[in-house]
Amino acid sequence: MRDNGSSMLGVYISIPFCRAKCSYCNFASGVFGGDRLERYVERLAEEIHSAQAQAADWQTILPKQVDTIYFGGGTPSLLHPEQLRNILCALREKFSVARDAEITLECAPGQLADALLEALPQLGVNRISFGVQSFVDAEAAAVGRLHTGAQTLTDIARLRTAGIENINVDLLAGLPHQTEASWQVSLDQAIASGVPHVSVYMLEVDEDSRLGREMLTGGQRYHASAVPDDAEIADMYLAACEGLNAAGIAQYEISNFARQGWESRHNEKYWLRQPYLGLGMDAHSMLHGKDGHPRRLAATDDLTIFLEQGARHKSTMVDVDASLEEAWFLGLRRNAGLRLAALEVEFGAEVVAACRPALAACVGAGWVEMVDDTARLTAQGRLFSNEVFERFLGLAPCNIHTPVTKDSHSVGDPFFSVL
Ligand code: SF4
Repeated sequence: MRDNGSSMLGVYISIPFCRAKCSYCNFASGVFGGDRLERYVERLAEEIHSAQAQAADWQTILPKQVDTIYFGGGTPSLLHPEQLRNILCALREKFSVARDAEITLECAPGQLADALLEALPQLGVNRISFGVQSFVDAEAAAVGRLHTGAQTLTDIARLRTAGIENINVDLLAGLPHQTEASWQVSLDQAIASGVPHVSVYMLEVDEDSRLGREMLTGGQRYHASAVPDDAEIADMYLAACEGLNAAGIAQYEISNFARQGWESRHNEKYWLRQPYLGLGMDAHSMLHGKDGHPRRLAATDDLTIFLEQGARHKSTMVDVDASLEEAWFLGLRRNAGLRLAALEVEFGAEVVAACRPALAACVGAGWVEMVDDTARLTAQGRLFSNEVFERFLGLAPCNIHTPVTKDSHSVGDPFFSVL
């Protein structure tokens, strides 16, 4: 186990409301009326107030100290200042939110109202993540994004004027009509904007999204025929790694790049398997169990159920096999890699020994490198990360007693849908 339950808590708040639905998106988000958003915020506040009692029902330990809060979506920048204030007040009332807590709000460029911008620093929001995807307007428009590259740059400038420098830009490789040259335009623009953090995702189109269905059945409406192929997308990803690293925005995780000291503290909790509480529709949590077994929680993904009955979390215990798999899966995502000695402390030397043939195969394939006793993905390994992770599935010998002491991660977190 990475910690004994004494870690500070990360809180994820889901705001599944958008102004328009992107063609590739199949998240549990949608375009809903303002009255539903108002009711949603009330429900969130109720969830926050009952969180400690709920945690007791789930037999979990809910740390009171919070040092990261992340508003994800959806489009949390659609919240009115009063709504954001109400959520944060409820959190500060029920938890002890650190003075230097990292508080992130995901924003859609061009949808950051003056009133909200003005309220952000007062409310303690100190980090903004922009869903830019592309600085090339035709590419953004082709998937239903409503903003232009110029609006993104204007919003970045507005945030800096308001005193918020900690800004992330999300870029998406694989959009319809994207080319190597147009991808470079987006990369150059992201670098030139001076933001300290960039996330790069490779588009994996969900079959149930509108774009995905068109890719399967044909058609012109969502530009399915203009989606780059896998090899082109892989080249875009490699170009991003090269370009961002050269610009001093160093890769620290498969999809994430930052200038030194600007890494996302909230996302680090997921990769380091530290506890977090997800609130709202379709939110996921991982908390330590009172019996030593971690618990993974998943809230309903139905807005009507959430509004009428609350989150209705489903709780699942994380077993040893799943713990070990996630230790590999999450540890290898980070450029810092995974120390085998730490794994041995957590799972026992015998369990780690059982993983060594899979590790050796990955090293032999050029996907993983060993630096002292730390296993790290190579550049090639990051491209084939799914194949690498598959090698570490089901390796825990079931007859070996291993203390069940690690955290788990909930598949379904926004950043887990990539790569
Ligand atoms: S991709 Fe993001 S902004 Fe677009 S519809 Fe999905 S949740 Fe909303």
